[in-house]
Amino acid sequence: MIYDSNNLFARIIKGELPCDKVYEDDHVIAFHDIHPAAPIHVLILPKGEYCSFDDFVFKADSDTVRNFYLKVREIAHSLGLAETGYRLIMNHGPHASQTVHHYHVHLLGKRPLGPLVAGDNYHA
Ligand code: AMP
Repeated sequence: MIYDSNNLFARIIKGELPCDKVYEDDHVIAFHDIHPAAPIHVLILPKGEYCSFDDFVFKADSDTVRNFYLKVREIAHSLGLAETGYRLIMNHGPHASQTVHHYHVHLLGKRPLGPLVAGDNYHA
């Protein structure tokens, strides 16, 4: 997939669209999901032009990848989720229902999160 520099999250990064910001630095932005699926549902994005996890982990250099996931951890801790637990979701492609094609991690927590995927009884 070719990265579309006018996708929704690219426009949020550029400041063209608003967001309910949790964190921002030169490399990362995090904001509340507009349709939260849990009491805390934050989206965490590298600012670089990556379509998905698949693209990010393949193209970004090791320091960028490591620093990004360290920042995800730091944000989870800063939101008080380390003790009770949290879930990270990264959707890649149509079967995962990815809707915005700028790589983002969903960080969810503050309640038991239930099955891993819809219809999954094993993880319930
Ligand atoms: P995905 O399906 O993994 O691509 O997730 C995209 C997420 O972006 C969904 O959970 C949406 O609720 C969320 N979303 C869409 N538009 C906005 C917005 N303007 N601000 C914050 N979150 C949004």
